[in-house]
Amino acid sequence: MAPGLALGGVHIVLTGPADVPTWSVKREDVPFEIARLAAALNTAAERLEERQRAVALTAGAKDAEIFAVHRMILQDPRAMSEVEFAIAEQRINAEAAVKLLIERYQEALGKLEGDSVRDFGSDVSDPWRFVLNVLLERDREQVLQTEQQVILAAAALTPAVVTFLERERLLAIVTEAGGRFSHGAVLARSLGLPCVVGLPNLLARLEQGMKLAVDGDHGTVLLSPSDEQVTEFLERKRSLEGRREVFRAEASQPGTTLDGRSVRVQVNIESVRDLDTFDLAHTDGVGLLRTEFLYLERNEFPSEEEQYRLYRRVLERMDGRPTILRLLDIGGDKPLPYFQTPSEDNPALGWRGIRITLRWRDLLRVQLRAMLRASTSGDMRILMPMISSLEEVREVHRLFDEIRTQLTEQGYATAEDVPVGAMIEVPSALLELERIAAEVDFVSVGTNDLVQYLLAVDRDNPWVAGLYDPYHPAVVRALKHVAEVSGRLRKSCSVCGEIASDPAVALLLIGLGYDALSVAPQFVPEIKYIVRHSRYADLEELARRALAQDTASGVRAELERAGRELATRA
Ligand code: PEP
Ligand code: MG
Repeated sequence: MAPGLALGGVHIVLTGPADVPTWSVKREDVPFEIARLAAALNTAAERLEERQRAVALTAGAKDAEIFAVHRMILQDPRAMSEVEFAIAEQRINAEAAVKLLIERYQEALGKLEGDSVRDFGSDVSDPWRFVLNVLLERDREQVLQTEQQVILAAAALTPAVVTFLERERLLAIVTEAGGRFSHGAVLARSLGLPCVVGLPNLLARLEQGMKLAVDGDHGTVLLSPSDEQVTEFLERKRSLEGRREVFRAEASQPGTTLDGRSVRVQVNIESVRDLDTFDLAHTDGVGLLRTEFLYLERNEFPSEEEQYRLYRRVLERMDGRPTILRLLDIGGDKPLPYFQTPSEDNPALGWRGIRITLRWRDLLRVQLRAMLRASTSGDMRILMPMISSLEEVREVHRLFDEIRTQLTEQGYATAEDVPVGAMIEVPSALLELERIAAEVDFVSVGTNDLVQYLLAVDRDNPWVAGLYDPYHPAVVRALKHVAEVSGRLRKSCSVCGEIASDPAVALLLIGLGYDALSVAPQFVPEIKYIVRHSRYADLEELARRALAQDTASGVRAELERAGRELATRA
């Protein structure tokens, strides 16, 4: 979930042939759906003809004949009427009907023996896959042509869905699958998009253009709300906006509690674009730049020069405020389209983050060179993701020193002091914290991952979403441990996972002694307000009460009560 309220028409997103959702089509829209199918068939046939011509020129007419066969397959009236029948009788979208046909071919031919039969099977279904691709492309083109703002609905909340349309066109996102703390959700929050995930069978109940009222605060979606519901919804939206105004009014003031303790409120960003989404005066720096998103939105690895320029821009824009750049954290649910990682049964426990970059050292070398070259442009700090042992910390330090020497020899200037910190997001790092913290300059807790690894609950899996509970007493104890150890070793400690933006949890974190909270841009004013309107001594007491709880519901009750008390003062 990402908070906020939105009201508008829905557009169901199709991001790729592997993920074709089925949605309902009104009876009167069936002819339109069949016309979409016919148009896609024509385009597919034209493209196959073009391919045939091109292949005939390069490989010869004989090899090109397969495309003529593909066109003939598409003219088979029985297949066509089967798809039309599915659209009209089951009242489903054309893409879903084509997918059913492909599945039927596969099922029928998969049962037969012999390679040549199976090859024939793929020959029969391939041209229909082609039609499916045309339908998907056209859908995107059509939605791009209009200028309407829409609520996106999709099967899962992936980064591809979040970036399907430019931010200005998006009102909210609702999805069937995807955890609240998946990377797609993180991206949606950073764009300030209200979001509700984990709504099984949602798409089957939607029609394109249906009006929805999305409540990201409570995780609910109303389908075709009544006039009365719309009025009540808009009323709540106005009151939410009113509260936001109150937070914004004092967001440029220092983040200091009523009894004088300073807590930095920093911002999490994913791209240079995000730099325009917040008021610089509201923040005490960047607490987390997820550099992998700079890599995700491209077709190839960015060069050292490109990275250097990007980092320099971020530092210049932050104008001397602390800016934490995290080393590449790809893998898991953040695959790079141009970097082949093995397919893994258990990607969350697999090859990701520092494990990839320590194996493929050049990735780390190039990134460290670019960062160190940019370090003279501001107050830069470097953060290591997914640290699970001291060896990894030492290895990065060794590389860091080697690269700094190399840069000096090559005549590049680098900042005198570039602090290097570790993310605490793996239980082994938590248990080895004394040793790790002694060898780094600061620590930052990645609760999105720490909660999943501590509780053995996949952050992306909707089946266990109910067990992903940041209020679990074990999580509270882990957070206390990090604050205590780093306080003792006089190392700065922050939380940059999403829970820092939950007002009730923010109270706990301040009370535990964290000196910085880093949140998506839209939450900065509210968290700053919370800091400014609390007494540290009261929050220390609140943290003690939370730690004394033996159930998640007990922790939740304590923190939410404190949150409500503060809200009544807002
Ligand atoms: C985290 O795990 O909490 C974190 C901040 O990193 P990411 O969400 O990018 O894994
Ligand atoms: Mg993480």
